[in-house]
Amino acid sequence: MKAQEIRTLFSQMCDFIRQEHGIDLPISLAIDYNGSYPKPRDFAKTNSRCIFLSPKILKAPRHRVEGLLRHELGHVLLMRQGDYDHSEQTADNIAELCFGEKILYDQDGVQSTKVGVYPRPLHLPQH
Ligand SMILES: [Zn+2]
Repeated sequence: MKAQEIRTLFSQMCDFIRQEHGIDLPISLAIDYNGSYPKPRDFAKTNSRCIFLSPKILKAPRHRVEGLLRHELGHVLLMRQGDYDHSEQTADNIAELCFGEKILYDQDGVQSTKVGVYPRPLHLPQH
């Protein structure tokens, strides 16, 4: 997806959370050209105020971008409640509650809304 398409998708997700759940998330999105993403499956991270995306996300299909952003928003929603010590699966559970679809993991161990397995495979980091 192109950067502008990702920004539009993210803005629609934030609108959905506001309209469906009454939560206004003060969160920004950065295509993080200077950030560190050591592993091939590292595409996104968050500090609760900003979601940072590796530039390689610009080559990802929509279902991967959606899965990644929903997962990160799961982290953000938990951190907003003061929970900074939750598991990766808990972030997926919150994303599922929020958006009504399970987070899947594709053959590269990356989140997706369309292809892959559920729940998060045990060989991936769990925290
Ligand atoms: Zn995560």
